Amino acid sequence: MILAVHALAGGVAGTLTSSWPIAIVFSLASHFILDAVPHWHYPVHAEKEKMGGGLRELLLHVRKPKDLARYPIFRDMLSAGLDFFLGLALLSYLAQSFHPGDFWLIVGSGLVGILPDFLTLLYLLFPKNRYLAWFRKIHKKIHSRQRLDDRHLLGISSQAIIVLLIIWLLI
Ligand SMILES: [Zn+2]
Ligand SMILES: [Zn+2]
Repeated sequence: MILAVHALAGGVAGTLTSSWPIAIVFSLASHFILDAVPHWHYPVHAEKEKMGGGLRELLLHVRKPKDLARYPIFRDMLSAGLDFFLGLALLSYLAQSFHPGDFWLIVGSGLVGILPDFLTLLYLLFPKNRYLAWFRKIHKKIHSRQRLDDRHLLGISSQAIIVLLIIWLLI
Protein backbone atom coordinates (compact mmCIF):
# COMPACT_ATOMS: atom_id res chain seq x y z
CA MET A 1 0.00 0.00 0.00
CA ILE A 2 1.11 3.56 -0.48
CA LEU A 3 2.01 5.54 2.64
CA ALA A 4 -1.15 7.66 2.46
CA VAL A 5 -3.31 4.53 2.79
CA HIS A 6 -1.30 3.35 5.80
CA ALA A 7 -1.63 6.80 7.40
CA LEU A 8 -5.40 6.88 6.94
CA ALA A 9 -5.84 3.30 8.17
CA GLY A 10 -3.66 4.09 11.19
CA GLY A 11 -5.85 7.12 11.82
CA VAL A 12 -8.93 4.89 12.00
CA ALA A 13 -7.23 3.07 14.90
CA GLY A 14 -7.20 6.39 16.76
CA THR A 15 -10.97 6.72 16.39
CA LEU A 16 -11.62 3.27 17.90
CA THR A 17 -10.14 3.92 21.33
CA SER A 18 -9.12 6.78 23.59
CA SER A 19 -6.05 4.89 24.82
CA TRP A 20 -2.72 5.66 23.15
CA PRO A 21 -1.17 2.19 23.71
CA ILE A 22 -4.21 0.42 22.24
CA ALA A 23 -4.32 2.86 19.31
CA ILE A 24 -0.64 2.15 18.61
CA VAL A 25 -1.21 -1.63 18.65
CA PHE A 26 -4.28 -1.32 16.38
CA SER A 27 -2.42 1.01 14.06
CA LEU A 28 0.57 -1.32 13.69
CA ALA A 29 -1.84 -4.22 13.15
CA SER A 30 -3.57 -2.26 10.38
CA HIS A 31 -0.21 -1.80 8.64
CA PHE A 32 0.59 -5.49 8.56
CA ILE A 33 -2.94 -6.52 7.60
CA LEU A 34 -2.89 -4.13 4.63
CA ASP A 35 0.60 -5.32 3.67
CA ALA A 36 -0.61 -8.93 3.65
CA VAL A 37 -3.25 -8.16 1.01
CA PRO A 38 -1.87 -8.28 -2.58
CA HIS A 39 -1.46 -4.66 -3.70
CA TRP A 40 0.15 -2.17 -6.06
CA HIS A 41 3.23 0.03 -5.46
CA TYR A 42 4.72 2.95 -7.29
CA PRO A 43 8.31 2.08 -8.25
CA VAL A 44 10.77 2.00 -5.35
CA HIS A 45 14.14 2.15 -7.10
CA ALA A 46 16.54 1.72 -4.20
CA GLU A 47 15.09 -1.66 -3.29
CA LYS A 48 15.81 -3.10 -6.72
CA GLU A 49 19.10 -1.40 -7.47
CA LYS A 50 20.52 -1.92 -3.98
CA MET A 51 22.48 1.03 -2.76
CA GLY A 52 24.89 -0.99 -0.67
CA GLY A 53 26.62 1.85 1.13
CA GLY A 54 23.50 3.63 2.33
CA LEU A 55 23.74 7.19 3.59
CA ARG A 56 27.52 6.96 3.93
CA GLU A 57 27.90 6.30 0.20
CA LEU A 58 25.53 9.14 -0.56
CA LEU A 59 27.42 11.63 1.62
CA LEU A 60 30.81 10.56 0.25
CA HIS A 61 29.90 10.77 -3.42
CA VAL A 62 27.42 13.57 -3.70
CA ARG A 63 29.22 16.88 -4.18
CA LYS A 64 26.71 18.84 -6.22
CA PRO A 65 22.92 18.69 -5.96
CA LYS A 66 22.93 17.29 -9.51
CA ASP A 67 24.77 14.16 -8.30
CA LEU A 68 21.80 13.28 -6.11
CA ALA A 69 19.70 12.49 -9.16
CA ARG A 70 21.92 9.47 -9.88
CA TYR A 71 20.94 7.85 -6.61
CA PRO A 72 17.75 5.82 -6.71
CA ILE A 73 17.08 6.43 -3.05
CA PHE A 74 16.83 10.15 -3.72
CA ARG A 75 14.04 9.59 -6.24
CA ASP A 76 12.38 7.27 -3.73
CA MET A 77 12.50 9.91 -1.04
CA LEU A 78 10.81 12.38 -3.38
CA SER A 79 7.91 10.07 -4.26
CA ALA A 80 7.58 8.69 -0.74
CA GLY A 81 7.80 12.23 0.69
CA LEU A 82 4.98 13.45 -1.54
CA ASP A 83 2.89 10.38 -0.70
CA PHE A 84 3.58 10.94 3.02
CA PHE A 85 2.67 14.64 3.06
CA LEU A 86 -0.50 14.20 1.01
CA GLY A 87 -1.63 11.36 3.29
CA LEU A 88 -0.83 13.30 6.45
CA ALA A 89 -2.56 16.43 5.14
CA LEU A 90 -5.73 14.50 4.26
CA LEU A 91 -5.73 12.68 7.62
CA SER A 92 -5.19 15.95 9.54
CA TYR A 93 -8.01 17.59 7.61
CA LEU A 94 -10.42 14.70 8.32
CA ALA A 95 -9.40 14.50 11.99
CA GLN A 96 -9.84 18.25 12.44
CA SER A 97 -13.21 18.26 10.68
CA PHE A 98 -14.78 15.14 12.17
CA HIS A 99 -12.93 14.35 15.43
CA PRO A 100 -11.37 17.62 16.65
CA GLY A 101 -11.26 16.32 20.23
CA ASP A 102 -9.10 13.33 19.21
CA PHE A 103 -6.98 15.20 16.66
CA TRP A 104 -3.56 14.27 18.08
CA LEU A 105 -4.51 10.67 18.83
CA ILE A 106 -5.70 10.20 15.25
CA VAL A 107 -2.75 11.96 13.61
CA GLY A 108 -0.33 10.16 15.97
CA SER A 109 -1.90 6.80 15.09
CA GLY A 110 -1.61 7.71 11.42
CA LEU A 111 2.13 8.28 11.86
CA VAL A 112 2.46 4.94 13.67
CA GLY A 113 0.68 3.36 10.69
CA ILE A 114 3.56 4.53 8.48
CA LEU A 115 6.32 3.63 10.92
CA PRO A 116 7.12 0.13 9.52
CA ASP A 117 7.71 1.61 6.06
CA PHE A 118 9.71 4.49 7.52
CA LEU A 119 11.97 1.88 9.14
CA THR A 120 12.46 0.37 5.67
CA LEU A 121 13.70 3.74 4.45
CA LEU A 122 16.06 3.90 7.43
CA TYR A 123 17.28 0.41 6.56
CA LEU A 124 18.13 1.55 3.02
CA LEU A 125 20.06 4.48 4.49
CA PHE A 126 21.75 2.38 7.20
CA PRO A 127 21.97 -1.14 5.72
CA LYS A 128 24.51 -2.26 8.32
CA ASN A 129 22.20 -1.73 11.28
CA ARG A 130 21.29 -5.13 12.75
CA TYR A 131 17.96 -4.10 14.26
CA LEU A 132 16.76 -2.47 11.06
CA ALA A 133 17.82 -5.55 9.07
CA TRP A 134 15.95 -7.80 11.51
CA PHE A 135 12.78 -5.72 11.33
CA ARG A 136 13.01 -5.58 7.56
CA LYS A 137 13.06 -9.40 7.41
CA ILE A 138 9.87 -9.68 9.49
CA HIS A 139 8.21 -6.89 7.49
CA LYS A 140 9.02 -8.72 4.24
CA LYS A 141 7.72 -12.01 5.58
CA ILE A 142 4.31 -10.53 6.38
CA HIS A 143 4.15 -8.57 3.12
CA SER A 144 2.14 -10.25 0.35
CA ARG A 145 4.34 -12.03 -2.17
CA GLN A 146 1.86 -11.24 -4.89
CA ARG A 147 2.49 -7.70 -6.18
CA LEU A 148 0.16 -5.84 -8.50
CA ASP A 149 2.83 -3.34 -9.56
CA ASP A 150 2.38 -3.97 -13.29
CA ARG A 151 -1.41 -4.04 -13.14
CA HIS A 152 -1.90 -0.31 -12.71
CA LEU A 153 -5.64 -0.18 -13.33
CA LEU A 154 -6.53 -2.99 -10.92
CA GLY A 155 -3.83 -1.95 -8.45
CA ILE A 156 -4.72 1.73 -8.26
CA SER A 157 -8.49 1.24 -8.36
CA SER A 158 -8.43 -1.38 -5.59
CA GLN A 159 -6.36 0.97 -3.45
CA ALA A 160 -8.75 3.84 -4.21
CA ILE A 161 -11.68 1.69 -3.02
CA ILE A 162 -9.80 0.90 0.19
CA VAL A 163 -9.14 4.63 0.70
CA LEU A 164 -12.83 5.44 0.28
CA LEU A 165 -13.76 2.72 2.77
CA ILE A 166 -11.22 4.05 5.26
CA ILE A 167 -12.44 7.66 4.84
CA TRP A 168 -15.98 6.43 5.40
CA LEU A 169 -14.78 4.86 8.69
CA LEU A 170 -13.01 8.07 9.64
CA ILE A 171 -15.95 10.46 9.21
ZN1 LIG B 1 3.56 -3.20 -0.15
ZN1 LIG C 1 4.78 -2.03 4.99
